[in-house]
Amino acid sequence: MLKSVINLFFPPICTGCKNLLLPNEKIICTICRHEIPLTNHHLLHENEAMGKFYGRIDLQHASTLFYFHKKGIVQELIHNLKYRGHEEIGVLIAEWYLVDLKKITALKDADYIIPVPLHPKKLKSRGYNQVHSFAQTLSKGLQIECNEKLLFRTKYTKTQSKKNLLGRSDAIQDAFDVVYSDREHHKHFLLVDDVLTTGATLESCCRALQKIPGAKISIVCMAMAQ
Ligand SMILES: [Zn+2]
Repeated sequence: MLKSVINLFFPPICTGCKNLLLPNEKIICTICRHEIPLTNHHLLHENEAMGKFYGRIDLQHASTLFYFHKKGIVQELIHNLKYRGHEEIGVLIAEWYLVDLKKITALKDADYIIPVPLHPKKLKSRGYNQVHSFAQTLSKGLQIECNEKLLFRTKYTKTQSKKNLLGRSDAIQDAFDVVYSDREHHKHFLLVDDVLTTGATLESCCRALQKIPGAKISIVCMAMAQ
């Protein structure tokens, strides 16, 4: 009842095209949903996401669900998730991706899901980690424990997007560290993040995780920039 009254005054609109959503639609309409470019990385072990890390980090698996284009629907979704508090978008993307991720053999022995952490200062100013709801939903769906304490961020980088690529890589190096015990030895860590661009942030996370004896690592992101 309350929900229908709220909807009367604030009818839910599609994040992509801004048209009214039908009662059975959530966040994006069916038309926009079909327009979103899918990578289909899950169909191929040697995919583009894996390719980003060749010669840098040895991974068990890497994949993203969407392609990310400037001014596209995916950018709009991630912008709303990251800067406008719409954490339900992380849930939607995870539920969408779970159908594919459940079929990936390389992830069957994953022990922990690790969302890429924000620096405590950034977490305080944003109020939430934009990858949290995505990681939690994957955790439930794949029945893999989500660990948000093991990996942490040591460096605070403020205007990362304005720096050139080289500067970004420099700034992000050694930006993460791990706190672990014997219990975390010889485990398979599934790192999750929003957008895979240069891979510098994830590489830095991997370097930190590699301090743990016998660590195996996989990466799953919502989208990949082309
Ligand atoms: Zn739409």
